[in-house]
Formats: sequence, C-alpha cells, structure tokens
Amino acid sequence: MEASVKPAFMNFRTIWLTLILSSCFILPGYTQSPSRTGVKAFPSRLKKPDKVTLSNLERHIHYLADSSLEGRRAGSPGEAAASGYISSEFARSGLRPGGDNGRWLQAFTIDDGRSIDSSTTFSVNDRPLVIGREFFPLAISAAGAVTGAPAIALQESGVPWFLDLRELIQVHGHSPHFDLENAIRAMAGVFAGKGATALIVYNSSKTPDNLSFDPRDRPAEAPIPVIYMTMAAKRKYLKDESASVDLKIKVAFAEKQRTAHNVLGMLDNGAPLTIVIGAHYDHLGHGEDSNTLYRGPGHPVFNGADDNASGVAGMIELARLLSASKLKANNYLFIAFSGEELGLFGSKYFVGHPTIDLKSVNYMVNLDMIGRLNDTTHALTVGGYGTSPAWAGAFKAGAGTAHLFSFRFDSSGLGPSDHTSFYRKDIPVLFFFTGIHSDYHKPGDSYEKINYTGELQVLKLVWSVVEELDKKGRLAFTRTRDASAQGIARFSVTLGILPDYSFSGSGVRADAVSEGRPAQAAGMRAGDVIVQLGEFPVTSLQNYMEALGKFKKGDKTTVKYRGGDESIERPVQF
Ligand SMILES: [Zn+2]
Repeated sequence: MEASVKPAFMNFRTIWLTLILSSCFILPGYTQSPSRTGVKAFPSRLKKPDKVTLSNLERHIHYLADSSLEGRRAGSPGEAAASGYISSEFARSGLRPGGDNGRWLQAFTIDDGRSIDSSTTFSVNDRPLVIGREFFPLAISAAGAVTGAPAIALQESGVPWFLDLRELIQVHGHSPHFDLENAIRAMAGVFAGKGATALIVYNSSKTPDNLSFDPRDRPAEAPIPVIYMTMAAKRKYLKDESASVDLKIKVAFAEKQRTAHNVLGMLDNGAPLTIVIGAHYDHLGHGEDSNTLYRGPGHPVFNGADDNASGVAGMIELARLLSASKLKANNYLFIAFSGEELGLFGSKYFVGHPTIDLKSVNYMVNLDMIGRLNDTTHALTVGGYGTSPAWAGAFKAGAGTAHLFSFRFDSSGLGPSDHTSFYRKDIPVLFFFTGIHSDYHKPGDSYEKINYTGELQVLKLVWSVVEELDKKGRLAFTRTRDASAQGIARFSVTLGILPDYSFSGSGVRADAVSEGRPAQAAGMRAGDVIVQLGEFPVTSLQNYMEALGKFKKGDKTTVKYRGGDESIERPVQF
C-alpha cells in the first residue's frame, strides 16, 4: 500500500504492513498457505446466539458505513452520528458512560494547521488586491501590519521590498532538492537586517514556482511579512517600476482546529483490573485529509465498511456478550477511538488523559479491519503476540475456533493502529486484522463486500481468548523487538504499487498499480513481479524497501519486472 500523499503516519503504516506481512511467523500446527486444503471450513449451521450476533453485525456495519455518515471523518457531523449510535448500543448492553464527567464522550482537539485569517489585506495605492487570486502570504510569513511608500526598483530601509524570483529559480530551480520557500525565508532575513519591513515576491520567469499556502505547513518564520504576488497582479498594480507606490499590508493567520470524540462505555464488574477493548470508528470522510489511495475524479465518500465499521461492530457485540456473560473477574472498558486515520490521535489522547488509572489496565484488544476474512485461507493477522507470555497459551489452549484459522502472528506491540498507544504504556496488547485488500482507503470499501460470517468467527476467537484468560489475573508485560526500532529502511519515494503481501515467490508482486505513478508509466500491471530496481536486485519486500531508500524525488533509474512470462526493463523517474 503505497500512496503518493505521505502524511508521516501513512509512511509508517506502509512500512509496518510491508514488514509485518513479510516477516510474520507461523505457529506450528497452524497451517497457512491456501494451497494447503488443510484449512477447515467454518461450521455452516449456526446456533441461535450466533445468528443474533451475525444479524447485529450486519445492522451495525450497514448503519456505520452508510453514505449518510459521510465517511465518519474525525470531528464531522458523520462522526457525531456514529458516536450517537455507538453510545446507544453501549447503553442497550447495560454499560455506563466512561468518558469525560460521566458522559459517553471524551473530547479532544485536532490541530488542522493554520488558515489565512480574513483580516489579511494587501493594497497598492489604496487599491486592494484579491486574496488567493492576486496575492497570498507564504506560510513562512510573519504576522503583522506594515505600511510604506517604496520605489519598486529600490531597496531602501524602513519600507517593504520587492523580489523577482526569476533569478533564484533560474539558478537553483533545476536541483530537485532546492526548496524555494526556504530560500525566500533566508533572503527575507537578510533583507530585514538591511531595513526591509516586509517582502513582496513575484515570479516573472516562465518556470512555475509551485508556491502556495499550505495550511498544514508550520515552517520557521521569516522576521517580516512575506507576500506572494501573481504576475498578473504585478502587471496590473506595479506597471511603472520606477514609481513609488503606497503599500498597506496586514498578514494574520488563524489556528484551524476541530474537536473529535472518543466514545467510552464501562462494564463495571467491581474488579481491580480492567480490560480495554477498542476499535477506531473514524474514517476518511471525502478524503479532505489527503490520506486516501484514491486517484480518481471528484470527492467520493469513503464509507470504510471494513476500515473500521467492522471492528466497531465487533466491539459493540463483544460488549453485549460480555455484559451477559459470567466473565466477571475483570472490568471491561470499550473504547471507540476517533482520529486514528490522522495518526492514532484518539488513542494517544486517551492514554495521555485516561479516564481510569492506566495501571489498572490488564491488557488491550484492538479490532481494526476484521471484515474481509479470506474464505479460502482464513488468514488472520494477530499483532502484539510477543507483548505477553500469556498470549501463546491463550491461543494454544483456545477451545474455541483457533484451529479454523491460519494465523500470521506478529510479535511486535507496534503497528499502524490504536494498540500501539497502549503498548507504549507497557500494556500487553493484541491486534486482530483480516488483511489488506485493494479497496483499502478507497471508495470501494463498502458493506456489500464484508465477510459477515468470517467476522463472526473472528469474534468467537477473540471471545475464546478473553474467556481463557478471565481468571489468570494480571498478565505479564513483555517489551518486544520492534521492527521500527531496528532501523528499517526509510524511503521517501515509491513506484506506486500495492504489494501483494501473500506472495511468497522471489521479487515483489504488485497487487494493484496506482494511476499516474512511475510503475504505471513503466507499463506495470497488477500481477507483475518486480525483480530489480536500478542496480539493486529485488527478491523480497524487505530489500525492495531498502532499494527504494536509495533514491530521491526526481531521480531516474530503471525497473525490471516479470510480466507473465516476459522479462521487461523500463526507465522510471521518481
Ligand atoms: Zn484506515
């Protein structure tokens, strides 16, 4: 899963998924490969209680993944509708509110960067320029108000100065590592030292400068206001370069924030220890946060049926089943996290502002994408397997359905989902995940594609683990050798393929090829297998990532791949 848009988290998630699925180990006795017909089928006849759970799962996922919830973006009305639904289901199961001040919700703020405040103005000879179309302050700009009457061609102390970016671009523009905005900030610093009170830049060259105001960008500030003026505006307002003009400048920024909510329900059995069962309920909305893998037109809704309406539905059903059960040796705190898609914001906030004593947390179970179990392989990834010695026992002894699955155990407590926040607080964690698919972070992740009976079986497995551990007291915590701590290859460029994590041959097989990316330009299609990148042979996901790490944006090289029986080599540019 490689996306062109790279919020840090996405990169981590890509690395994690690539690593985990290329380095999981398989427990003896748990056959894995689909080719092995040894994977037993799930019982076709369901008992009544299971039928109830199954129809509830469908009801929950249909509601949460309905387009009317607009993709449940954190802090949106869709999130509010979803949290209302979840808390009413919690109430129906007899849970009590576990959030702020006895309420279901725990609010937290998401920093959405900055916006240009509407009080920002720029006028030349009392003729105001149109913000956005004729001018805008750069993100490096200092806030402030400045007036002055400079001669455009002169650079005198005590007034704003002008700078044509033509030379900077012509001298440095070809270098892929040149950061124009950075250079402008440096020049603004020098000019300020010589008495400039503001800097107005424009670009008379034919080379585009790609400058814009990035709300998420929080670069170091220049000591003076810095405004970008379009060439059209420069021609309109600053025709005579020898003339002096009357300038009035005001730059102001506003913090862009939104409030998101975790939903918490407590099943209080009056026990000393509490088990946390969690699942994130936020998703991508219409892609406003640039964290989708969709490259098509428009702004479709991302319903996130598998990611993660499936996990939330599973959590709601576990709450119902546990509150009706005899498993009373622990309390259970059920948490629907928001902000996960932005970087685990909700779970990080909870462990930083816990509504119960974190020391009383026995362990945490995280359900994220459990709705697309493969009916042939029954492949199930279980993360955090190394975070407590108790886990191995629970799975081995699981009288439940463990024998019906082919497990991919990942020992690390770290991963691209909310259990990571708890692991970092030295709490044993388990993470259940039925695997990646080509609808991941795309509009196609809809409830028709959910494997409901598969999810039911995953829930029965989770139940059998919780049941097995009910009377075992506090689980011991083990810190794991986390892949990321071992200095995994870092890469900043990608070819634009979705690796097939189940491929066991030599090379990297593409499960999907993203439009408009280098791999597609090189004629690659889904199913093709990369065997070399430049001078670097590719035999596994691991050394593929290391090879990617050798290249930078703009670099040219070649990719060699197998397409059907053909061996193809093509030039690529990152
Ligand atoms: Zn997601």
